[in-house]
Amino acid sequence: MLDRFNREIYYLRISITDRCNLRCYYCMPEQGVKLLRHDQILSYEQIINIVKKATKLGIKKIRFTGGEPLVRKGISYLVKEIKRIDEIDELTLTTNGVLLEDMAFELKNAGLDRINISLDTLDHEKYKKMTRIGDIRRVFRGIDAVIKAGFKGTKLNMVLMPEINDDEVEDMKEFCVKKGLVLQRINHYSLNSLTSINRLYEAERPLPCSFCNRIRLTANGNFKPCLFSDLEIPVDFNNISESIKKAVINKPANGTHCFKRQNWQIGG
Ligand code: SAM
Ligand code: SF4
Repeated sequence: MLDRFNREIYYLRISITDRCNLRCYYCMPEQGVKLLRHDQILSYEQIINIVKKATKLGIKKIRFTGGEPLVRKGISYLVKEIKRIDEIDELTLTTNGVLLEDMAFELKNAGLDRINISLDTLDHEKYKKMTRIGDIRRVFRGIDAVIKAGFKGTKLNMVLMPEINDDEVEDMKEFCVKKGLVLQRINHYSLNSLTSINRLYEAERPLPCSFCNRIRLTANGNFKPCLFSDLEIPVDFNNISESIKKAVINKPANGTHCFKRQNWQIGG
């Protein structure tokens, strides 16, 4: 699908839950958040239905995100079903890695193609501070499980924070080389303004708006044409294709701001 600015939109990021087992200080408030009820989030059948329609319109790549996608029960079933759809070229997942130790094999067997693991530091104490409740050893074990399960092209997502972890890039690169991972540096931003993106560092993400190839789907069934915009198109289950087309046609040339939602509700 081409949008109004001639960008080919073939990538759909799906937030399958707003729940998370960490509280990264740049993403979620410490005291937790008001969560959606189970009956407010899209069922797996609804997600499968939406993806089937989306592939008919040119979507070829799907990423599951969250909150933390691995806290939603039965995700391997969803992986299997999405992989059965012929037009899907790549099915990926972004996770904080905490639950990968137990789930990597199952996800590989279900057909997941690739995984991005978020890890901003290699330091145990710093990790605990940044995530407020995390135990880095679980992520390390998760990374090893992913390697053992045979995943290729695994990326490590590192959000660069001034005076917190910006001195760790070289160590992180070394760690990635040792483990056969690809480092993906992310410049920190606030959704409240596109201009808040910290451009101090060389980083792979966020992509410039002119390179944007994606739309997003929130856990409660709204398409978001742009991360930095409040515009949302609720999925009309009587005409899913029309909702998808609306999302693509309404993609702005550039983002501005998003006040309605936070990262943990959209999945980055
Ligand atoms: N819970 C999963 C995880 O952490 O990988 C998936 C959702 S998380 C919102 C997706 C990605 O967004 C993570 O790599 C996270 O580090 C990144 N992220 C969250 N808040 C961010 C912010 N304010 N600026 C830049 N990246 C951010
Ligand atoms: Fe959870 Fe991911 Fe946000 Fe951290 S970045 S709080 S792991 S959703």
